Parts: sequence; structure tokens; C-alpha cells
Amino acid sequence: AREILEQSEKLTAVGQLAAGIAHEIRNPLTAIKGFLQLMKADLNENYYEIMFSELSRIELIIGELLMVSKPQKTAYLPNDLIVIVNHVIALLSSQANMQNVTITPVFEAEQAWIRCDQNQIKQVLVNMIKNAIEAMPKGGDISIKVKTDNEVRLEISDQGQGIPEEKLVRLGQPFYTTKEKGTGLGLLVSFNIIRNHQGKVKVKSKLNVGTTFSISFPLIEPSADQRADS
Ligand code: ADP
Ligand code: MG
Repeated sequence: AREILEQSEKLTAVGQLAAGIAHEIRNPLTAIKGFLQLMKADLNENYYEIMFSELSRIELIIGELLMVSKPQKTAYLPNDLIVIVNHVIALLSSQANMQNVTITPVFEAEQAWIRCDQNQIKQVLVNMIKNAIEAMPKGGDISIKVKTDNEVRLEISDQGQGIPEEKLVRLGQPFYTTKEKGTGLGLLVSFNIIRNHQGKVKVKSKLNVGTTFSISFPLIEPSADQRADS
């Protein structure tokens, strides 16, 4: 395990984002335009399929971009991170099973209260667990650890392919992806959410051994009447 990554200001360089968007959307648009011209001469089912999938790609990219750019309605309330993690594991475990992946919760505290927008934290977990699943095409285990000291710590570890050291700085940059069908926006969205929660992220990775994302949040002590659930 090596190399600590501090993600901060560089995430939202507007120029970089704009150039990335232009590039990412122009490619499928160029393809669609080309196939429309072909279809004028020859109405072929395959052209339709390709155009449909290119349009779906644009839709996906724009959907994820909206999450970065449009401030959503947020509700920062006291929540037990352990409850949130359990929800997300329940949500993703059958999908993980189909990929021969198990998800193991490791809770080293009874409760872990943070002030957060529940849905946003769920989104971070979903993004990171999906990445972990995708990093283990032959299957494996994902451990999700929650512990508390003077902060709340969340560690998501996989046994996947790992990330080369020189690529760690690229994580969270708009459109950085190594996947054929990736958008390269999942970590950008996740890091932004974590930052908006006064959280910090670190990444440790070793090639062919696995990757751990460690996230820390300020710990709160909710009074009984503040609690969002329970
Ligand atoms: P996407 O998943 O669409 O590629 P992300 O922003 O979620 O976009 O991730 C960006 C890139 O970071 C991935 O393409 C992959 O190369 C790398 N990555 C992220 N998480 C992991 C992981 N757990 N193991 C290995 N590589 C990862
Ligand atoms: Mg992803």
C-alpha cells in the first residue's frame, strides 16, 4: 500500500471541465451524425442501434454532470453512518453476488453519527462500491469498515486490480476513466459530496492486490430529538 492522495481545489477547474464535456459529447454526436447520413441512403437496423447507444451515452454523461453542477435539495441531518451503510449493502448485494463479489461490513463502533445528506452519502457509497466491483472482474470481497475515534472513518477496500501510483492524481478529474463504458464522473461527484460534508478522502492502492478508499467525517453527538431516524 502506498501514496496518499489529497483531493481538493483542482476538482472544479471550470476550463478543464468544459473542455472535457465538449470532447466527451462531441464524439458520440459525430458518430450519430455520420450514421444519420448513412441511414439516408440505407435504412439499416444496426445504424439505429449504434445511434441509440451513442445517445444513451450522452444522456448518461449529462445526467451525471447535472449532479455536479445543479445544487440539489439537501438536508444535512444527524444520521448514523452504520444505518446508511447497511441500506446500501442491502441495495447492492444481489448485484455484487452476480459478479461473484461479497460485501462484508466491519463495524468497529455501535453507532457513528455524522451530519449529512443521507442520499448524497448513499451515492458516494454506491459509486465506490460499483468501482470496487468493476475492479474485480473475477470476483472477490469488498470490506466496508466503519469506526469512530475523534472522527467517523469509513474504509472501502477491494481485492481488485489496483491503481498505478502515477494515476492516483487523476482520480476525480472530470472524465478520467480506464473503462470502455465508464464516464469518469463517479469519483468527481463523490469527492465533491465528501468535501461538502467537511470530509477527507485518501486512497491507498497496490497493483493486483487492491484499493482502499478512506473517508473521514466530523463526528457529531446528536441529542435524541435531532436524530433523523430511530
Ligand atoms: P468510471 O467508473 O466511470 O470509470 P470513476 O470516476 O468512478 O469513473 O472512476 C475513475 C477511474 O478510477 C476508473 O475508471 C478506474 O480506472 C479508477 N478506479 C476507481 N476506483 C477504483 C478501484 N476501486 N479499483 C481500481 N481502479 C479504480
Ligand atoms: Mg465509477
